[in-house]
Amino acid sequence: MRFDIVTIFTRMFDSPLAESILKRAVEAGKIEVHRHDIRDHTTDAHRSVDDTPYGGGAGMVMRPEPLVRCVESLPEAGKRCRILMTPQGETLTQDIVRELASFNQLVLICGRYEGIDERAIKLVCDRELSIGDYVLAGGEIPAMVVIDAVTRLIPGVLGNEDSVRSESFEDGLLEYPHYTRPEVFRDEKVPDVLLSGHHAEIAKWRRKEAVLRTFKRRPDMLKAADLTEEERRSLELTKPMKTAK
Ligand code: SAM
Repeated sequence: MRFDIVTIFTRMFDSPLAESILKRAVEAGKIEVHRHDIRDHTTDAHRSVDDTPYGGGAGMVMRPEPLVRCVESLPEAGKRCRILMTPQGETLTQDIVRELASFNQLVLICGRYEGIDERAIKLVCDRELSIGDYVLAGGEIPAMVVIDAVTRLIPGVLGNEDSVRSESFEDGLLEYPHYTRPEVFRDEKVPDVLLSGHHAEIAKWRRKEAVLRTFKRRPDMLKAADLTEEERRSLELTKPMKTAK
């Protein structure tokens, strides 16, 4: 997978790419991450990428010319999607992440200021994605979110492919709770079944906990989840949590 990041802050990506799974994915050649400074595509002495908005109002707007030149200068590396990170886009979900993982190249365009001139968006963006209903200062952190989420799905990136399969959202459910040593911590004991060594019972317990947890925290997800009749019936006797997700 090739990622091309279009930004005015290329160095913001230094440390996320230099640690842990992303670092190993780069070293193993599973991903390539290319950063492109929009300012390198300006033509004025000040290397300006923004200007005042037509019609007045607060803030600055990213000018179309350097951004479009920057995106158009990128090589095409197979099946490609050019994505604008914007709070006005579709909200990123695990389903969308899976879809993105099927491309060969993702171009991630990071806005700043009030946003980007609309004509540039029409010309060089195939899709608009948001990471949630809140406004950040720029698209760089959202772009990192996409890179992280997509990279984890590339075969061979995580040592254990099973860990992806059982994760939250993969089967329409949140994941079951996890425990590790010590067996007793501050008077609370690990559930007996997890110490039993009985794999079928453990799988049954985990499934039950995943269903219950999803029902309590994210009942909205259950409509699409693949539940047995018995699971649906048992949930009718339980109440979802009133607190936030
Ligand atoms: N004025 C814009 C609006 O109200 O929709 C917000 C601009 S925001 C301050 C600057 C840039 O940050 C955006 O162009 C976008 O690239 C990025 N950004 C901010 N919040 C985001 C989010 N939730 N998801 C994805 N990108 C976001």
